[in-house]
Amino acid sequence: MKTYDVLVRGSGIVGQSLALALARLGLQIALRPDPVRREGSPDIRAYALSATSVALLRSLKVWDALPAHAATPVHDMHIEGDSGDSVLEFSAWEAKTGELAHIVDAAVLERELASAVRFAPHVSVINDDDVQASLTALCEGKASGTRDKLGIGFERVAYGHRAIAARLTSSRDHQNVARQWFRSPDVLALLPFDTPQPQSSYALVWSLPDERAEVLLAMDDRAFEQALMEATAGAAGELALASPRAAWPLMRGHASAVSGAGWVLLGDAAHVVHPLAGQGLNLGLADVVALARVIAEREPWRELDDEKLLRRYARARLAPTWAMGQLTDGLLQLFAHSTPAVRELRNRGLTLVNHLPFVKRWLTARALDS
Ligand SMILES: Cc1cc2nc3c(=O)[nH]c(=O)nc-3n(C[C@H](O)[C@H](O)[C@H](O)COP(=O)(O)OP(=O)(O)OC[C@H]3O[C@@H](n4cnc5c(N)ncnc54)[C@H](O)[C@@H]3O)c2cc1C
Repeated sequence: MKTYDVLVRGSGIVGQSLALALARLGLQIALRPDPVRREGSPDIRAYALSATSVALLRSLKVWDALPAHAATPVHDMHIEGDSGDSVLEFSAWEAKTGELAHIVDAAVLERELASAVRFAPHVSVINDDDVQASLTALCEGKASGTRDKLGIGFERVAYGHRAIAARLTSSRDHQNVARQWFRSPDVLALLPFDTPQPQSSYALVWSLPDERAEVLLAMDDRAFEQALMEATAGAAGELALASPRAAWPLMRGHASAVSGAGWVLLGDAAHVVHPLAGQGLNLGLADVVALARVIAEREPWRELDDEKLLRRYARARLAPTWAMGQLTDGLLQLFAHSTPAVRELRNRGLTLVNHLPFVKRWLTARALDS
């Protein structure tokens, strides 16, 4: 039986990033991909990645290897409430930063990580479970089977909503503006993107109640585009589908514990949040940064399976993941209400925040840091 320092189970973006980050510390890593091959069309999602996530990917030599069209910077963000005059705007210029986020092609990022893993001297991709390791890191996503086998609880709440994702082209340049509409009960995001059409493509994420999502998924392309035009009132130009549509059921969830003697959970295996704030993967990559730091800074005599050591990781991640769960849930509940009084209040709230530069600066800093 071969022996490694760390066994990483799950080779999604979080698992591959963790394998590379720990290999850079000189540890011997076994990376175990999913034994059940899930064939299907490539992931059409594009992720909004924070500056912290980009810095991690850059340090892993993955960021600079991405083709230019696979990562688009966001310079401004325009959020609308139920009425056209309730608007909240963020700008990189106001926040004195280069960009608010980058929109990154999920499939291309996963591919670049896989290629970095292939060339990483301390990472072995293994295809059976006949290995021994001091530490097992579970990065198997929200349905992690190993987490369940270990008896670690996972509390989940289904929202009864689905997110429809697709690639779009527009008749107008995106000008690096991300647009979002909070319209009870829908949340619609258009993320600026550069494929298939440079400067005038978007990645769509449209979260809606299940029944409405089903209706939209059953529509032909023309009718769907029409529904999109109605929802966006033409603010982003004439939108056309540039890919098939795909949908994800939405839930929130968190594990009852994220560390124990010889094991840790990272990414969606540990916590799942609604995609309305585009923060799920950012949380997972921040888990990677935190665990790598805890391991790098450990006392020389501490073993990798030391429960106390791993608790440092759990403590470091407790507040940020809890806060993000509360924020996304709070926003969702606030915007789910359709009573006129609540609508009026939240629309005023958006406009009020828009006129409070220090609140906007605080919100921007939180989003950049996550
Ligand atoms: C529509 C939508 C839009 C989103 N947009 C954003 C965004 O803009 N920004 C953002 O930060 N986040 C976003 N997210 C969240 C993001 O998708 C997730 O947080 C992220 O993919 C989690 O990565 P992961 O590696 O932890 O899990 P996963 O991506 O689920 O990867 C887990 C991997 O483990 C494998 N696996 C499963 N079981 C086993 C096993 N037993 N053994 C080995 N391997 C196993 C799986 O096959 C998979 O390859 C979005 C989510 C949705 C649904």
